[in-house]
Amino acid sequence: MQFSSAVLGFARAASFAPMGGVRFQATRQGKRVASSSNAPRYRPGRHFLQIPGPTNVPDRVLRAIDNPTIDHRGPEFGQLGREVLARLKEVFRTKGPVVIYPASGTGAWEAALVNTLSPGDRVLMCRTGWFASLWQEMAERLGLDPVFIETDWRHGADAAAIGAALAADGERRIKAVCVVHNETSTGCTSRIGEVRAAIDEAGHPALLLVDTISSLASIDYRHDEWGVDVTVAGSQKGLMLPPGLSFNAVSEKALAASAAARLPRSYWDWRAMLKPNAEGFFPFTPATNMLFGLSAALDMIFEEGLESVFARHDRHAEATRRAVRAWGLEIQCADPKYFSSSLTAVRLPEGASADALRAVILERFNMSLGNGLGILKDRVFRIGHLGNFGDLELIGTLGGVEMGLAAARVPHQSGGVQAALDYLSGSA
Ligand SMILES: *Cc1c(COP(=O)(O)O)cnc(C)c1O
Repeated sequence: MQFSSAVLGFARAASFAPMGGVRFQATRQGKRVASSSNAPRYRPGRHFLQIPGPTNVPDRVLRAIDNPTIDHRGPEFGQLGREVLARLKEVFRTKGPVVIYPASGTGAWEAALVNTLSPGDRVLMCRTGWFASLWQEMAERLGLDPVFIETDWRHGADAAAIGAALAADGERRIKAVCVVHNETSTGCTSRIGEVRAAIDEAGHPALLLVDTISSLASIDYRHDEWGVDVTVAGSQKGLMLPPGLSFNAVSEKALAASAAARLPRSYWDWRAMLKPNAEGFFPFTPATNMLFGLSAALDMIFEEGLESVFARHDRHAEATRRAVRAWGLEIQCADPKYFSSSLTAVRLPEGASADALRAVILERFNMSLGNGLGILKDRVFRIGHLGNFGDLELIGTLGGVEMGLAAARVPHQSGGVQAALDYLSGSA
C-alpha cells in the first residue's frame, strides 16, 4: 500500500507540474523518485492538454475510477458489464455487439484485422496520413497484402478512387477496405457514408473496417447505417477517459467472416469475448476501474445528448478555423468537405518551426499541443478541441496559441482570438 501511494503521490505531483522538467528514475526499491537536479516545479492553474488525445479527463470520470476494485466474477460486476456494453452500442449507433479490450487503440486495430482476415488477404487502404500508414504497416507485419490509395495528406479518403479500385478487382481479391474516419495527423475527416456507397456501387463483397479512434463521441458516426463491419475506437479521445480501453463494434457480416478467418488470434478473439459478455462478464480480468469511468462518461454523453455533443464539436472547430484564418495561417485540411470537428492541424509559414512554437507555448503557458507526424514533422501543430471541452477552454487554448505565435516570433496577424470570440458570442 505504501508503495502504491508513493507512486501515486508522485504521479499527482507530476500532473500539477507536467512541464516542470520532472525526471523520474527507478531506485532499487522499484519506487520512482524525482531526481534532485530537476525537481518538480509547481505550476499554478491547470495544464491545458490540447493534443488530439489523450484529452482532458473530467473530474466526474476521475471520481468514478477512484473507487475500490470489485470482484470481476461477482454479481455487481455483471450488472456494470451489461450496462456499459449495452449503452456503448448507442454511441456507435449499432444494434450489434461491441467488444472492449484493455488495450490502447492499436490493439483494437489488430483485433479488427486478425478476427476477419486470413494470411495473404489483400486489403485496400487509404493513406490519409500518419495513422493510416501505421495501420498499413501493421497489416503488412500480420502477413496481409495491403495496397494503398495515396493522398496528399490534405484530404479525406477518396470514395471514388476506392470504388474504382474495387470495380477493377474482378477476381475479388480485396477482402477488406480500411479507412481512418478522422485522420488525427492531418485533421481531415473521411466521408464513410460515401465510401459505403462506392463499395455498394461496385457490387464488391469486401468488408469495411473503420478507425474512429479520434472521432467516436465527437463527430457524427453511424456503424449500422453506413454498413461498417468493424469499427475501431479508443477510450482516451472523444470518450473522455484515460488511455487504456479500446473497442470493436462488429457487424453480422464481420462475425460470419471471423468464423472462416485464419490469421492466428488468441487474446483478441471475439468468440472468447462475446460468450461471457452476454452476461456482462469477460474471459480475462477486465480493466474494472476504467469501466467505472466508462459508465460515468456514458452518463455525461447521454445527459448532453449525442447530437448536442456533435454540434458542440462542430462549433468549436469552426471557431478555431476562424482564428487560424485571422492569424493568416493555413489549415492543413485543404477542402472544407473534409474539415475535422475534433482537431485542427495548422501549417506554419515557410522557415518557421512548429516544434519550437509548441515548446514556447508549453514553457510559457503550460499548454500541450499536438506535434506534426511523419511528413508533417515540424511543419504543423495540431489543436485538439475534443472531449470534455467548453467555450472558455477553447478561448483559453486559442489565447495560448496567439500569445505563443507572438512569443516565438512566427509571422502572423493578431485577431484570431477575437474572431473566435465573435463567432462564439454570436456577433460574427
Ligand atoms: C490515437 C490514434 C490511434 C492510436 O491509438 P493508440 O491508443 O495510441 O494505440 C490510431 N488511430 C487514430 C486515428 C488515432 O487518433
